[in-house]
Amino acid sequence: MKASSRIALAFVLIGLAIIAVQLARLTSRVADLDARLNALEEAKAPPNETRTQDEEPTKGSGSPDGSVHRTAEAKAEGKGTEQAPPPARTEEQLQTFRGSISKKGLCGAFEKLGKKGDVICAHVARVLRWRLDLRRDLRKGDRIAVVYGWLRDENEPVVEAIGVEGKVRVRAYRFRAGGDPYASYFDEQGMEIPARLVNSPIDGYEQITAFFGDRRGRKRHLGIDFKAPVGTPVRSPFDGVVVRKNWNWRNNGNCIEIKVDGEEMYAIFLHLDKLKVGAGDRVKKGDVIAASGNTGRTTAPHLHYQLDRVVRGRRKPIDPLKYHRLYRKKLEGEELDRFRARAKELQTLMR
Ligand SMILES: [Zn+2]
Repeated sequence: MKASSRIALAFVLIGLAIIAVQLARLTSRVADLDARLNALEEAKAPPNETRTQDEEPTKGSGSPDGSVHRTAEAKAEGKGTEQAPPPARTEEQLQTFRGSISKKGLCGAFEKLGKKGDVICAHVARVLRWRLDLRRDLRKGDRIAVVYGWLRDENEPVVEAIGVEGKVRVRAYRFRAGGDPYASYFDEQGMEIPARLVNSPIDGYEQITAFFGDRRGRKRHLGIDFKAPVGTPVRSPFDGVVVRKNWNWRNNGNCIEIKVDGEEMYAIFLHLDKLKVGAGDRVKKGDVIAASGNTGRTTAPHLHYQLDRVVRGRRKPIDPLKYHRLYRKKLEGEELDRFRARAKELQTLMR
């Protein structure tokens, strides 16, 4: 080989090496972001968490400044990873845990699992709270069994089945009904356990992860949080007028407030991605007003939805789950058969 071709070959090899190193860096960065997002997501999950977001009174001013905006964009980069539907899991990956309620309550039952137990307990609590009062209805010694696996790592549990045996008996099986983007939980009769809102501000959500009145340290949560990937359509549940947007940006992120027609009430939507309406716009019930996001002070993508009623000139947040009519899916026909077959498999694993 001539000297000149050797030099050319050397250049090509160096070039390839540089590309390989850059690719490796990029891959590890994406993996790191993904891992961090997963960790954040679960950090957000327990309903008895002590974060202090969304409880702030919704006054004050503040508009996006450059630095805050950059943070939001940086966060947005990693969010694509939240959009993929959970992959199918094999039975081999599922595990069964059996425990009993201790003095410490529900999560005491999962103590043996350590940190993983806390993560699973938080998820289980968000299902059971639709059927029972976690403080009053669970007694020391009551038995609980769960069939669970992990989605990507041990921060993101997939709880396939829950059984409670004690003063109250509950059976909950995870199942994705036709036409739904996410799985929900159903009892042995095929009746859904979590309720859905009529005229919901969001349909494509995974779970309600924080409820009205949940304790956040010394504060109370003033709305409800829907866990949903960035970009999920947010609709106005009411006819009304947009009265303001993007106030207190550092906490609320991109946000909208609607004065509801015919009532002394305001509907508030926080942590949005893109807004489709601005102050002064009239909206009709069902109009898409924004895409859900992860802006402002959040630890994971979600929609915070709040209803403020004006009582004697003062705003008083009310529970959206008490204001909205609620409904639950009832599985029928072939779908019920499919569900029953799945529930039977899970029952065997729970024993
Ligand atoms: Zn919230």
